[in-house]
Amino acid sequence: MTDHDLLIIGAGISGLSMAHYAVGAGLNVLVLERERQPGGCLCSHRFGGALDGFWLELGAHSCFNSYGNLLAILERVGVLNRLQRRAKVGFRLFADGAVRSIPSQLCFPELLLAPFRLVGLKKAGRDVAEYYGRLVGPRNYAAVFEPAFDAVICQPATEFPAENLFRSRPRRKDVPRGFTLAGGLQTIADILAGQPDIPIEFGRTAREIGRAGEDFVVRTDRGEYAARALCLATPVAVAATLLRAEFPELAAALAQIQTATVESVGVALPADRLSLPPVAGLIGRNETFYSVVSRDTAPDPAHRGFTFHFRPGALGEEGKLNRIAQVLNVPRGAFGAGNVATRINRLPALRVGHGDWTDTVDRALAGSRLALTGNYFTGVAIEDCVTRSRQEFERLRREGW
Ligand SMILES: Cc1cc2nc3c(=O)[nH]c(=O)nc-3n(C[C@H](O)[C@H](O)[C@H](O)COP(=O)(O)OP(=O)(O)OC[C@H]3O[C@@H](n4cnc5c(N)ncnc54)[C@H](O)[C@@H]3O)c2cc1C
Repeated sequence: MTDHDLLIIGAGISGLSMAHYAVGAGLNVLVLERERQPGGCLCSHRFGGALDGFWLELGAHSCFNSYGNLLAILERVGVLNRLQRRAKVGFRLFADGAVRSIPSQLCFPELLLAPFRLVGLKKAGRDVAEYYGRLVGPRNYAAVFEPAFDAVICQPATEFPAENLFRSRPRRKDVPRGFTLAGGLQTIADILAGQPDIPIEFGRTAREIGRAGEDFVVRTDRGEYAARALCLATPVAVAATLLRAEFPELAAALAQIQTATVESVGVALPADRLSLPPVAGLIGRNETFYSVVSRDTAPDPAHRGFTFHFRPGALGEEGKLNRIAQVLNVPRGAFGAGNVATRINRLPALRVGHGDWTDTVDRALAGSRLALTGNYFTGVAIEDCVTRSRQEFERLRREGW
């Protein structure tokens, strides 16, 4: 019954990168994915009909030349030459019903003192509001930085640990600073899922994890799978539920991480119907949405696309389309079934003390053939996920598996 060295649950970037490392080491791997396509939060919606060929990002939108582990994988599979430089367009604020430049909202006298405030100011043990609020001053924090940070992590950033928000990493000079691929970041998932030695069974929802001696048994709604090692690469809440029966203490630890929900709505329109100048996106201040992410970073000659990442429960479906129409200054009738796409995104809401939490979880995993990867360890960025997969894969190897 034990057909596989490693079963991986979830074919987002965490699961796919884990599969890449394991297959590279000659292991017999199987990935089980609930959806019909890989990618998870790498979710580029590709339109059909009159918009055929046009895509927009319903989830992650930007990768950077500091994503060293991701880039190394893309290099190994031979697609580094397919990276597309993001066009140089900036972010604006959407505040008090109008699009505004970021500098117009800053209080420069308050900002000028930031280098002095930085002296002795530590990120460790501070949340985003404490650290950045002190650094940039309360007025700048409220007017610009708080909404900008909310937009970056698609959730209220105030209580997020400052050290998990941005991570300084070395940059590769031979790739564009910010990049995507033709077809969007979903293409990364498509490429990795298409590697010959990475079998993925789609439409398989893991329901339960059991043990058969030292081995793992995963029960899905379409049968059972067994393997010598198991990697959970699902959102944290799913991992907590799956571990409850066999690993109750670990499950209890994972259940401590709260989940932030984002209601994302993408719309595409002919470029000539829009008066908004090209933008990377809009940051919502006191708005129903955290951000609007634009396709202008990968410009298309005929169409433009915008994904509004709404705060959960702020508006109903009709209310969202009305708000989108107001912000883009187009009639509500401009949107119909053919040019609107939606997705519910979920992200972990990390809190101060998360480093200790990670240490506890890693201690519980040590010596076991169970691996946990995902966006709930060092941070939510794609590179954090790939780095975690690499660390977990190396741990399993070190421990002689
Ligand atoms: C709106 C948004 C914008 C973002 N923008 C950026 C960005 O620009 N740059 C950046 O670096 N990061 C960005 N991120 C963060 C980043 O995209 C995610 O943290 C990362 O992609 C998560 O990958 P993952 O594989 O850990 O989880 P997921 O992508 O959530 O994948 C988990 C997979 O597990 C599957 N699954 C779940 N339950 C089961 C089950 N029971 N059985 C089988 N399969 C299951 C899911 O279907 C999914 O495919 C963004 C995130 C969001 C939501």
